[in-house]
Amino acid sequence: MSARVLVVEDEPSIAETLLYALRTEGFVAEGCGTAGAALEAVRGGEPVDCLILDVGLPDRSGFDLCREIRSFSALPILFLTARDGEIDRVVGLEIGADDYVAKPFSPREVVARVRAILRRVRVVGRGDEGEGKKGPEGRCGLVHDERRRTVSFQGQELELSRNEYHLLLALMKHPGRVLTREQLMEMAWPDPGAASDRTVDAHVKLLRAKLRAVAPEADPIETRRGLGYALREGA
Ligand code: CA
Repeated sequence: MSARVLVVEDEPSIAETLLYALRTEGFVAEGCGTAGAALEAVRGGEPVDCLILDVGLPDRSGFDLCREIRSFSALPILFLTARDGEIDRVVGLEIGADDYVAKPFSPREVVARVRAILRRVRVVGRGDEGEGKKGPEGRCGLVHDERRRTVSFQGQELELSRNEYHLLLALMKHPGRVLTREQLMEMAWPDPGAASDRTVDAHVKLLRAKLRAVAPEADPIETRRGLGYALREGA
């Protein structure tokens, strides 16, 4: 199945060049020119595998849009930035972008970056086919949709931040096994050095609240005092 890429760029000549390059390389590529349309497509449309996002959009900044998407989705995001400054780059990555390219860029480079991002995502996702799943329902009523990068709990899709998503996936891959905070940081944070034990605890707390909102009694994440966290086996 071809990966679906959404190009969010208000400058038609740039958008068309990118769409052409992506389609030539076998991607399903679509474009939109505003942050509003992009958000609508990500939230309600066909599943998107990767977003190419221009920083300067007519209705909102790309950074703003990225932040909002990150509050509910781990969808891979590649930034297009017109200003080649370090600050833009750092900001772009801190708000949860997967990569960036500075304008002017070659369409071929953008396509290569998209490929690299998708490869990374698939490598991370591969383990889910194995021990993390128990039949089509998965463990504890948790089901990972690898393509959409979402997790459902008892049939209801969870709105997860990127860290919550990776944290939950790490636990799902090793049901019943206690994972220390250090292990969870390694598995779930893009820059593990930037997280602390308390960061992990805070994210587990948020994750539990979201699970509780779906099923108040279930509580599938166990705390092992002094050790770490585990996903209850067969709960
Ligand atoms: Ca623009």
